[in-house]
Amino acid sequence: MFCYNVKLLCYNKTRGVSLSLNQNDNSILKKLTASARPMSAYDLLRALRDDERVRIKAPTQVYRSLEKLVEAGDVHRVSALNAFVACSCAHKGSPPGFLVCTACGMVNEFDAAGVLSVPRQRTGGFSVQTMNVELSGLCKKCQIKDLRK
Ligand SMILES: [Zn+2]
Ligand SMILES: [Zn+2]
Repeated sequence: MFCYNVKLLCYNKTRGVSLSLNQNDNSILKKLTASARPMSAYDLLRALRDDERVRIKAPTQVYRSLEKLVEAGDVHRVSALNAFVACSCAHKGSPPGFLVCTACGMVNEFDAAGVLSVPRQRTGGFSVQTMNVELSGLCKKCQIKDLRK
């Protein structure tokens, strides 16, 4: 599945856009970095609401922070799952692509620079502003499980 409708997020990071992160932003970034799976805004709210040290109580606070983190390139939105992942920096200066396992929800980031060159070649200098590369399938672990069935 290919969709081209999300910002070239990690470009911001390499362009040196530095947004000052507040305590809420940092709490969310920490949660996402520690999580093995992508988390939705509500997963994050649930995980942080009960933490005494964090002052996040409402969905709008989570969305505001996520918007900022996505803008900064620290976090990516995975449209296929309507969830967020911390950037694992698998793409240096290039837009990220994602391999999404439809069985376990595992997401792996990869460098999607090769994909970006396609519209440039095909459309005579078309300037891409937003792009979203998400490939759905089965991760190695789930393929092995599938074979055992
Ligand atoms: Zn990234
Ligand atoms: Zn899997």
